[in-house]
Amino acid sequence: MRMRVLMIAPPGAGKGTQGALIATRFGIPHIATGELLRDHVARRTSLGRAVQEYLDRGELVPDQVVLDMVREAIVAAKAAGGGYVLDGIPRNMQQARAAYLIARDLGMTADVALHLDVGDAEVTRRLLARAALEHRSDDTADVIAGRLDLYHRVTAPIICWYRERGILVSVNAMRPAQQIGREILTALDGMRPLIDGEAALSGMAGVPVPCQRRCLPLSAGQNRCAVASPPGLAHLPATGRR
Ligand code: ADP
Repeated sequence: MRMRVLMIAPPGAGKGTQGALIATRFGIPHIATGELLRDHVARRTSLGRAVQEYLDRGELVPDQVVLDMVREAIVAAKAAGGGYVLDGIPRNMQQARAAYLIARDLGMTADVALHLDVGDAEVTRRLLARAALEHRSDDTADVIAGRLDLYHRVTAPIICWYRERGILVSVNAMRPAQQIGREILTALDGMRPLIDGEAALSGMAGVPVPCQRRCLPLSAGQNRCAVASPPGLAHLPATGRR
């Protein structure tokens, strides 16, 4: 099934849970960069040894490490039917730009950027509760505060870019997981005719795909972005910028 979703959310917002739900519903691979990295650490691969300290400190691992992993995963997703749900990338503007170019080269650009909107106090409470159960090295109060700070400084500004591209869906994630999941699936189901339509059109050379076709209604002022399109993308025609 062709459904390509990337998720942007602070740590503890429920990306893992909702990503798994979306993957099951649409029969698409769930590509979670944090999980892939933790798996390398657990297996003590050379990559795992190289990134362990970043994970322990709640810092971003070097962009190229995750981009290489994601390219490989998107190639596999293409062979498996063309859909994916990306969880954990992009985390900064450089990754957004590079991931876009990788996906564009593979004919696999995202249909939807899903933002899980949740406040710091709530995610801190959730992460501390998770710490008691899962013992993740980065779920301590200090490291959580640093991860949230990083999210607000370098990840959240990307949301604006997806809004400008007309693919942003923002969901209130301050509610029980089941309720959030229902809302996400309803929103994604509602977009399927558009996505299927585009998939059909993309096979027909010369047929223009209307830009902004999936722009959600915005309230006044919401459309003003402090972040410009990443360098290198501004020249692309709107129909090629998704
Ligand atoms: P969370 O979003 O709950 O903090 P993740 O499992 O998504 O957790 O990520 C855990 C850690 O993995 C991050 O703190 C970071 O060290 C690393 N990581 C995951 N994705 C990326 C990425 N795209 N770029 C850089 N580092 C990443």
